[in-house]
Amino acid sequence: MYNVMSLKAEEFISDEEIRETLEYADAHKEDLEVIDRILAKARERKGLTHREASVLLACDIPEKVEEFFTLAEQLKKDYYGNRIVLFAPLYLSNYCVNGCVYCPYHAKNKHIARKKLTQEEIIKEVTALQDMGHKRLAIEAGEDPVNNPIEYILECIRTIYSIKHKNGAIRRVNVNIAATTVENYRKLKEAEIGTYILFQETYHKESYEKLHPAGPKHDYAYHTEAMDRAMEGGIDDVGLGVLFGLELYRYEFAGLLMHAEHLEAVHGVGPHTISVPRIKHADDIDPSAFDNSISDDIFAKICALIRISVPYTGMIISTRESQEVRERVLPLGVSQISGASRTSVGGYAEPETKEEVTSAQFDVSDQRTLDEVVNWLMKLDYIPSFCTACYREGRTGDRFMSLCKNMQILNCCHPNALMTLKEYLEDYASEETKELGMALIERELEKIPNPKVKRIAAEHIHDIAEGKRDFRF
Ligand code: SF4
Ligand code: SF4
Repeated sequence: MYNVMSLKAEEFISDEEIRETLEYADAHKEDLEVIDRILAKARERKGLTHREASVLLACDIPEKVEEFFTLAEQLKKDYYGNRIVLFAPLYLSNYCVNGCVYCPYHAKNKHIARKKLTQEEIIKEVTALQDMGHKRLAIEAGEDPVNNPIEYILECIRTIYSIKHKNGAIRRVNVNIAATTVENYRKLKEAEIGTYILFQETYHKESYEKLHPAGPKHDYAYHTEAMDRAMEGGIDDVGLGVLFGLELYRYEFAGLLMHAEHLEAVHGVGPHTISVPRIKHADDIDPSAFDNSISDDIFAKICALIRISVPYTGMIISTRESQEVRERVLPLGVSQISGASRTSVGGYAEPETKEEVTSAQFDVSDQRTLDEVVNWLMKLDYIPSFCTACYREGRTGDRFMSLCKNMQILNCCHPNALMTLKEYLEDYASEETKELGMALIERELEKIPNPKVKRIAAEHIHDIAEGKRDFRF
């Protein structure tokens, strides 16, 4: 039944295969010979299969857990350096016809404030985001063919890209909207989106159907096969994710890796990113009603294992997580985080007051400003990056993967991170952040191995101080 090449959801995410995987993991979680063999493969940077990674997830032998945490940190350093790319979500509309029981936008919620941004309101939101220093957005909208048809989404994307306030610009729009048709994916591709992101929520079909009792999202196969349609439509950067807390985390973890293996096998390119959200409190949603919530320790283990299983896939942590948790998982392989997020519709230009009926999708745990986040990252010795170069240079899909695999990160991502950080420091940072950042740029420039790249990057950084913008490798 299990067939990684199949285009049928129930065959490439076979329930039987996941169950056997979990049994296999339980049978070998203390088997040192098997564990050492898996760790040796991971050390060769070949990634791990869902079965191998599931054994490590089940393993609780402290020295072995320590080994794969250390390995995850090493892979993160080798492939992503000390850069962390920053982005912000932009909620366009919270009208939704679906019935997802974990999301306050579900259609039966008559209490939440329903909002849909007009193009004028989008200009205000994007101007506010540009004034913070953001260059990369992830747009979010509920599923509603009447209120949020594809034409509305496309119009919003055009508006977002067209806004140039002072030195600001949104250079990459990632899109997180409901599963749709090949034709619509093609339109999104033509609108020059970055990554198409769609969380699976849960790979467990029976639970999926219960958690999505109404609306088009109820259809497990249509949802699970969405990434294949997106790739057929020409989008080759897709972002996977599950909502941890809905089902048994070991089941989800195996499903997630099987999905990645499927995309790689069928389309020749794995997921561009993986997100690891956990259920959070929101308007009429109480996370304690979901009994599969995972501890911070398990969460860290999952992050480390994703890093070693799919070394070339970026990992995203949102402001659902607190500063403390983010600090813990950053070294384990996270490559992107959101900063200063507002999860309400229109919340950047006009933040909601406590007295107002909320339109937010979830409560934000990390409430710091972008300047505070940038400052914090630098104090932890990370380079906050606003880079969007790859997609603008046409390095998507397998071309992006070859950049990672050839370890060109230090000659490409690194100078791009420094140049975009310099733009941020010039245009948006507080004095203290600017001072910290200038010193960091000086230090980090020295790490660029190719002398020509180093010289050009230094020249561009000088030019940015003179008022020029938008350099990239
Ligand atoms: S998760 Fe998405 S589809 Fe489900 S109710 Fe929320 S906005 Fe709608
Ligand atoms: S150069 Fe490409 S891979 Fe590197 S940070 Fe920029 S967009 Fe990402």
